[in-house]
Amino acid sequence: QKHYDYLLVGAGLFNAVFAHAAARAGKRCLVLEKRAHIGGNIHCDTVEGIEVHRYGAHIFHTSNAEVWDFVNRFVTMNRFTNSPVANYKGEMYNLPFNMNTFSRMWNIRTPAEALAILNEQRAEIAGEPKNLEEQAISLVGRDIYEKLIKGYTEKQWGKACTELPAFIIRRLPVRLTYDNNYFNDRYQGIPEEGYDALVQALFSEADILLNTDYLADKEGWNLRADAVVYTGPIDAYFDYALGALEYRSLRFETETLDTENYQGCAVVNYTERDIPYTRIIEHKHFVFGTQQKTVITREYPSDWKPGMEPYYPVNDTKNQALYEVYREMGARESVIFGGRLGEYRYYDMDKVIESAMVRARALGLTVGDET
Ligand code: FAD
Repeated sequence: QKHYDYLLVGAGLFNAVFAHAAARAGKRCLVLEKRAHIGGNIHCDTVEGIEVHRYGAHIFHTSNAEVWDFVNRFVTMNRFTNSPVANYKGEMYNLPFNMNTFSRMWNIRTPAEALAILNEQRAEIAGEPKNLEEQAISLVGRDIYEKLIKGYTEKQWGKACTELPAFIIRRLPVRLTYDNNYFNDRYQGIPEEGYDALVQALFSEADILLNTDYLADKEGWNLRADAVVYTGPIDAYFDYALGALEYRSLRFETETLDTENYQGCAVVNYTERDIPYTRIIEHKHFVFGTQQKTVITREYPSDWKPGMEPYYPVNDTKNQALYEVYREMGARESVIFGGRLGEYRYYDMDKVIESAMVRARALGLTVGDET
């Protein structure tokens, strides 16, 4: 049996970057992936010629020039700019909160008019905000809170805003310009060839076994390589010895429609409580698709139970403390724990790439553009 330098558990973005760095150093990697495809959560299916983001909308954005250049060596990033729209009972508001939003909400025209209304409404909360509702009102006032934050947030967390802690919303950016670009990052886009092409290029020299669960025979697999990089859930690695870390999950409902253009943009948020989904994604708009049909996905937030797909870590005090104990146990293993599940934290794609670069370099590997 072939022996490898690295056994990489999980074929997501973290290990893709790591595999690329290892291959450059002539190291051999064996990748185990539980699912039937590579790419982890950035994987897309093709339906009616349209790339469908199978695990939720993924928009690449970063201010890190090195990460941007790295990605652009493997794929061509298009000029997609995320400018989502909120639908509140049929009223359409631009996001993030900016002059387009305020002008629609209050029929005003100038930043001074918007600021006057915001300040008047922010003053409703006098002392320290006691919960998420008070925090949001203190940041953007009651009108924006009621129409654009309350229902959406309650659906996301499955709880009333008055029962959620204030710290969940630390900042709510308010822009006094007519600028609908959601991200502040210097670079953003979607790979024209698709995310899978990026991951395929990065894994091009690795041997990959799909439909293979490392944890079903951890000790056996460990014999196949000198070192292990594990990007699955850290609590699962230890067989949940101290209990399970909690997540929020999502359910996706995808539908092909016999219409060319369903909603006119990639992302529409449904901010009222009574509509059970939080967003509808129309995938073709990520790449300016001109197909005759369209594919849309409704996103329903859901509670998470063991066995379900973990999406968002619940980084509250209790879970964070539990993670810290697992992390200490992990530090005593001769295994590298990386990525969003291995480190139990929400990581955007650029941050995952950055983190994999740092970890690879610490082992003397390079990603290719070092001077
Ligand atoms: P993953 O992609 O989760 O890969 C881990 C892999 O390990 C999985 O394929 C899993 O099946 C496999 N695995 C786990 N356990 C085992 C095992 N025992 N044996 C074998 N294989 C195993 N980022 C952005 O930058 N922009 C966005 O717009 C954006 N939107 C997002 C939307 C949603 C709904 C979510 C959940 C995330 C979003 N992200 C976004 C974050 C992005 O998905 C992550 O940064 C990235 O996918 C993490 O890569 P990873 O390799 O760490 O983990």
